[in-house]
Amino acid sequence: MEERNFETDAIRTQSERTPNREHSVPLYLTSSFVFEDAEQARALFADEVPGNIYTRFSNPNNTELIEKLCLLEGTEDGIATASGMAAMYISMASLLKSGDHILASRSVFGSTHQILNTIFPRFNISYTYADITDPASWEAKILPNTRMIFVETPSNPALDIIDLEWLGKLAARKNLILNVDNCFATPYLQNPARWGAHIVTHSATKFIDGQGRVIGGAVLGKKELIKEVRFFARHTGPAMSPFNAWILSKSLETLAVRMERHCENAGKVARFLEGHPEVLKVKYPFLESHPQHSLAKKQMRLGGGVVTFEIQGGIDRGRKFLNALKMLSHSANLGDTRSIATHPASTTHSKLSDAERLAVGITPGLVRISAGLENIADIIGDINQAIQVSK
Ligand SMILES: *Cc1c(COP(=O)(O)O)cnc(C)c1O
Repeated sequence: MEERNFETDAIRTQSERTPNREHSVPLYLTSSFVFEDAEQARALFADEVPGNIYTRFSNPNNTELIEKLCLLEGTEDGIATASGMAAMYISMASLLKSGDHILASRSVFGSTHQILNTIFPRFNISYTYADITDPASWEAKILPNTRMIFVETPSNPALDIIDLEWLGKLAARKNLILNVDNCFATPYLQNPARWGAHIVTHSATKFIDGQGRVIGGAVLGKKELIKEVRFFARHTGPAMSPFNAWILSKSLETLAVRMERHCENAGKVARFLEGHPEVLKVKYPFLESHPQHSLAKKQMRLGGGVVTFEIQGGIDRGRKFLNALKMLSHSANLGDTRSIATHPASTTHSKLSDAERLAVGITPGLVRISAGLENIADIIGDINQAIQVSK
């Protein structure tokens, strides 16, 4: 088939239909599938013919979601998982073994940090963090037993940007698996596989769902690597529910238009905060003041839906600001139609030590805003009144 564009791929999948010829993809809420005969059952289990056996292994809704995500990310294969963390975990656990080492960017999601820091050491898998501000230091941190590089860009919540082209070349030269958590960018803004990532991981809970309804994740990438990931998932059981896959596939149909508006609103919030006398600093990838602004412009279509800022007056003022919000939700999620404010130091990254938090740019007064799809005047109006009231 000839090359189609992102929006079309997100909507027009060649998926299965029942004899009822549904226009919209139906929901296959079934735990298992019936064999045609004994011979087909044998052939299915022997991997000689394609087909569904049991929803822990595969389901038409999960397959449709993954086929779409692969088209949008430019990857060969993938699997859908029950959560973003299941995706992060199995993308590492299925491809690594005892004695291996992971080189990771320091600024990773709080639970990813727990996997590297607390869970994997029990299985003799070690890690080293490298700083994105010091690319030259990465090569020296690659050990003889390093097998994987894991990064998040833009990172949550520091919004640090890593040069994917440079990293893709480094991984290829050193024969390492490059695994990129692409949750913040979504496939609409950035495609890590294009720059040489072998594995692309997602929390679909955020912008991919986009309406704060379901938890989900995906591991996408090279066929031969996904084969290992699929084996691991089939036997350890982190499969996505078909209902969530159905929801998420519908969500992808509107991803492009939603991301356009999320990014437009986030950019406007960032520029409003940047000019505000009560605000110490603002970070947004497409603001000229962002330290990796030109890199963000190179590898991202738009600046993303998340802005961080630090209000004058530290942690107390930060808390007052959150309590003074009237419309924005105070929640740990992001990537929703509803704008959300979060205080990472006391919530998503509270399990880190003070020093660890500072090392990844989480100051006590840092506030993360996920710009939703409400009218921009109402979003900025609420932020502005909360800044005034919290004085
Ligand atoms: C939320 C998030 C995750 C975890 O995803 P869940 O769906 O909550 O399990 C992983 N990485 C990043 C960057 C996230 O924002």
